[in-house]
Formats: sequence, structure tokens, C-alpha cells
Amino acid sequence: MEKVKKVKEILRNIPPVHELQKQHTFYLLSKKYNLDESVLTSLVRQAIDSVRNRVMNGGHPIEKELTSFIWDETEEMVKRKSKPTLLPVINATGTILHTNLGRARLSKEAIDRVVEVAENYSNLEFNMDSGKRGSRHDIVEDLIKEVTGAEAAMVVNNNAAAVFFILNAFGKGKEVIVSRGQLVEIGGSFRISSIMEESGAKLVEVGTTNKTHLKDYKEALSDDTSMVLKVHTSNFKIVGFTQGVSTQQLVDLKQFQEDLIVYEDLGSGVLFDFMEAGIGEEPVVQKVLETGVDIVSFSGDKLLGGPQAGIIAGKKEYLNKLKKHQLARVLRVDKMSFAALEGTLQAYANKKAKDIPAVRDMLLSIEEVKERAMVFLDTVTSLNLFHWELVEVESMVGGGTMPEVKIPSIAVRVHTDTLSSQTLADELRKGTPSVVVRLQDQHVILDFRTITQGEIPKMVEAFRKIELTYRD
Ligand SMILES: *Cc1c(COP(=O)(O)O)cnc(C)c1O
Repeated sequence: MEKVKKVKEILRNIPPVHELQKQHTFYLLSKKYNLDESVLTSLVRQAIDSVRNRVMNGGHPIEKELTSFIWDETEEMVKRKSKPTLLPVINATGTILHTNLGRARLSKEAIDRVVEVAENYSNLEFNMDSGKRGSRHDIVEDLIKEVTGAEAAMVVNNNAAAVFFILNAFGKGKEVIVSRGQLVEIGGSFRISSIMEESGAKLVEVGTTNKTHLKDYKEALSDDTSMVLKVHTSNFKIVGFTQGVSTQQLVDLKQFQEDLIVYEDLGSGVLFDFMEAGIGEEPVVQKVLETGVDIVSFSGDKLLGGPQAGIIAGKKEYLNKLKKHQLARVLRVDKMSFAALEGTLQAYANKKAKDIPAVRDMLLSIEEVKERAMVFLDTVTSLNLFHWELVEVESMVGGGTMPEVKIPSIAVRVHTDTLSSQTLADELRKGTPSVVVRLQDQHVILDFRTITQGEIPKMVEAFRKIELTYRD
């Protein structure tokens, strides 16, 4: 009974909003955070509600400081409100194209283009020669043609959209032949068979999981066949007793059916010859197109190292149809993505692919990674909470790309006597800046392949903060 009375009394003492508005703290907060009065008022209201709830739940400790308690709560809310939801993180996992962490980081050139186009009006759909309406499809088409050798090209929202678009435009109501070994699921939500169903194309599966022969395709050809689709099995590799049909062989099927379209979903689609650099076995897009394949599509933010985009390249007659299709408008790309893509593709055209972070990080030698790790170690060894150790690890490419490829790398392994590795990983992730790590054999691993020189001082800061919290 006594308690209920007390709670009621505290509740009665909560100052009303209009009174708090007159206090100097209200003025100070609005100045400090450059807040509009009405926005701050609404936050004060929310703070009062939150304090009231806490009092009613018996969670209010010091009744006499009710007002300062409300101001503290208000300031917390202001801070929470001004912190963006989409935040930069430091990727210490060593996975270069981490889909959950935004895949590729953009090159300096690409970033500069984005900023310029975002700040200004642009010729997005404006023909500079005629002064009349232009097409956004023209923006990067020449560049794509230059770096892939394609006759024509266009860009849509992402590669999943490209697959859907191509199947819908050319396969709707008709048969599309796919090898059973290529009916993949990518990233947990993109299933070739489901996309095909959505597109209205009729899936004709041929072969078995591990073996598909040319004659399987040949026997499946019918008057209703519109297309043969080859899907890059990006995120897995069947090893052992396997048999696939090459793109070239599929192209040769066209002699049996004149209007057959051969389309290859390349997934990542490489423009830099990683195979020549000793990494993986993916042919460059140009090599694939040289087989005479009609259409290929690939992602902008996988190994290409640009923004999210789906690039469609191939024969002019098909690309012209796609550009005029209703869905082209539905799947169209934003000007900032075009700006970033142009900046990225320019690096390939100028033979400066190593200016692209994803390409650069793929090619970093183990010595270069070690150099980064050493710079970090030199500074952090003064932090006594942690034990540090340099170890050899393997980086992954990620983004469902080259699953079999493991790139030798160097990492710093860290542990403490007091915190579990999971707790340390949690603290690093929740800190500012946020550091996302890999746990390996119960240890936190910082793989320096994906950490730049510029991020090292920030990483040191992250560990320093944890040391301050847990010291003593
Ligand atoms: C990644 C991938 C896709 C989807 O590409 P997004 O750009 O992520 O939409 C489609 N097909 C294959 C084979 C892929 O590897």
C-alpha cells in the first residue's frame, strides 16, 4: 500500500512538457544537437513516457533527481536518433566480398563520381549532342562493350533481376533447358528454379546432379524451346565423377535450332584475369563471349568490384529487345549506381584494375598483408588486456564466388584471460567503430587482407575502448 502511494507521488512530480521547455537545458540541448524545437519537444515527451514507465515498473532509483533523469533520457534519445542505421564496419573476416557487409567497397574513382552526380544535376537521360531526351542505357554501354568485347550491353538493378528479366523476355510461355547440376540456390533466397517459375518460363531439366551430356540437351530441344540457360554454380563445386557441357558446345547446338538463344548467367563475371594471376578458374567475360554465346549476365558488386548492378551483355538483336521491354523501366538503375559503375569500369578500360579495392585485395601478396598486420601489432601490444599472435590463415573470396579458392593470408589472433572469444567478438561488433571478426578454433581472428592501412588506427581505437571497459 505504502509503495503504491509512493509511486503515485513520484508520478505526480513528473514535470509537464511545457515546463521542461522553459528550462535552460532545453535550450542547451537544442543548440548542442542543432535540433528543431518541435523535434526536441517530441523527444522530451518520449523521455517522460519512458521515465513514467520505469517508475511504474519500480525501476526508478532516485526520486529527487527526476528532472535530470528525464534530461539524461532525452539526450540518450537524441543520440540514438542521430545515429544512422546503415553504418560502416571494419571487415576483419578476410572474406573479400562479404554479402552481409555490403560486398565490394568502391574505388576512389567510383566514389568521386557518385559524389559529383549526387551533388549536381546530370545528363542521366539527356543527350548532350542534340539537347534532347537521351537514354540512361547509353551511359555505360560503350565502356561495357570495350571491356567485354560485347556487341551491346545494358544494366539493371542486380544480377538476380537480370536473370528474371532475360527469362521473362525470351522464355515466357516457352521452354528453357537447364542442367540439373546447375539448379542452384544462391544466398538463401535466389533459386534458379523459382525465378524461372516466376518469369513464366517452363523449366526443362536435363542430365543428373553430377553429369550432363551434350546429347541430353540435344534430345530436349523441341519446337517450344526458346533458350538454353547455363548457370554458373557460383557457391559450390561438385568434385569427382562429373561431366558438364561447355558454353562452346551449347553454342554449337544452335545449328540444330536456328532461333535458339544461349544465355549464360556468369554470377560474378570477372573482367580481370584472376586465373592468369593464379587464382581460381573463372574465365574473363570476354573469353565467354568469344564462344558466340548470345547473352551473358553478371553482378556489379562481386568480383567486378563496383556497385550493386546486373550487367547484361551480348548480341545486339537481343539487347535491343530488352531495352525496349516494359521490365527495363521496372528494373532500372539509379544515377548514383551508374556513376559508381562508370568509375569502376573505367579502371578496367585503363588497365588499372588494381585501383579497385576488391581486385587489389584479391591480389595482395602474403607479405603485403603481413605488413598491415605488423603496423597494427606495433601499436596494440601496449594494451595489456590482450594476448596477440601472428598466424597464417586462409582468406575467402565470398559473395558466392570461387568457393574452392582459399587465398593464403596473415591474421592476428587475439584473446584475453577474462573475456570469452564470443564476448570479445560481440564487444568488437557492437563498438564504434564496429569490427566484424572471424572466430576460428575458439579464437578471435583478424585477417588483414580485408583491413586497409586507413582502418588500422580505428581498429586500435576499438581495442583501446574494450581495454578501458574491462581493465582491473
Ligand atoms: C550472385 C549470383 C546471382 C545473383 O546476383 P545478384 O547481383 O546478387 O543479384 C545470380 N546468379 C548467380 C550464378 C550468382 O552467382
